[in-house]
Amino acid sequence: NKQVIFKNYVSGLPKESDMEVIESSIQLKVPEGTKDAILLKNLYLSCDPYMRGRMTNLETLYMPSFEPGLPLSGFGVAKVLDSTHPDYEKGDFVWGITGWEEYSLITAPDHFFKIQHMDVPLTYYTGLLGMPGMTAYAGFYEVCSPKKGEYVYVSAASGAVGQLVGQFAKLLGCYVVGSAGSNKKVELLKNKFGFDAAFNYKEEPDLNAALKRYFPEGIDIYFENVGGKMLDSVLLNMRNHGRIAACGMISQYNLDHPEGVHNLVPVVFKRVRIEGFLVNDFFHLYPKFLEMVIPHIKEGKITYVEDIAEGLEGAPAALVGLFTGRNVGKQLVVVSRD
Ligand code: NDP
Repeated sequence: NKQVIFKNYVSGLPKESDMEVIESSIQLKVPEGTKDAILLKNLYLSCDPYMRGRMTNLETLYMPSFEPGLPLSGFGVAKVLDSTHPDYEKGDFVWGITGWEEYSLITAPDHFFKIQHMDVPLTYYTGLLGMPGMTAYAGFYEVCSPKKGEYVYVSAASGAVGQLVGQFAKLLGCYVVGSAGSNKKVELLKNKFGFDAAFNYKEEPDLNAALKRYFPEGIDIYFENVGGKMLDSVLLNMRNHGRIAACGMISQYNLDHPEGVHNLVPVVFKRVRIEGFLVNDFFHLYPKFLEMVIPHIKEGKITYVEDIAEGLEGAPAALVGLFTGRNVGKQLVVVSRD
């Protein structure tokens, strides 16, 4: 059983050498007498920015830290090889939190979703139809209170969450601008995901001026994925009664001392609502989300770009790459295709 082991707590940018791929042995069935367990063959693993937090032992985490010496864990798609749990049987496909390894024994599979729609790519359950997709859906529709015609800005817009937020906003009839960290990503935003405009924030010496150029009348909705200087500049460009969905702040995740926000005063006089949210609180909406999004996928109204790393050996680089913007689209790792 090949495994990706977490070596030790991390400070600063995570490195490939913070993880190690090893071989261990595992019995390919649920051990005799173990009730309510499933034995999974992992197919696709999701690389997600929140995993950086789990590489520390800070008290502020909302997920448990990884344990040095044990495999990492995260969202993934898997096939049930054996089950003593009444809700699962051999041959089922599921997605949920599994190990970064070829096979995982899950003793309390309470947080798995059984995959019902198999006529879409299975990899989508790491992204579009998995946790990031739910994040985009909940963050945009539930937190942003969007209305047709509003001006929407998305940062980290070509990523797992951002590319969907932009497409949801377009479906609703909003004006949507996205930013990303390379010209290739900017092209995707405009030509693949249908954003009205997009820019490479790394080539903008003055973010405030850039936002004024793209939003001469200001921003109604900011879907916040990066934080830091970007948030400072956005605050100067919000419209009255604007909303900011604080989904993530990836620019801060590798800093020992996160930066402060420099000017919150516009929040007062523009009456801006800033609301943080966690997708964990919205999974009850998953069936509603699928009902909406699956027909859109089939009709070609929603598209999704994935960045696929092959094999568990590629997993450490894939995870680390999220923090340098190496990934183009949703980063996932193929452990096995069947
Ligand atoms: P992405 O697929 O967007 O990958 C991360 C991207 O972030 C990189 O490709 C890079 O894109 C950008 N990035 C990395 N470092 C920086 C930096 N220092 N400054 C600016 N941008 C940077 O990730 P996801 O779509 O999975 O996640 C997007 C955000 O959503 C994250 O903040 C994540 O933590 C958050 N999130 C929150 C959830 C919740 O429940 N609240 C659930 C899931 C995700 P680029 O080249 O454009 O810089």
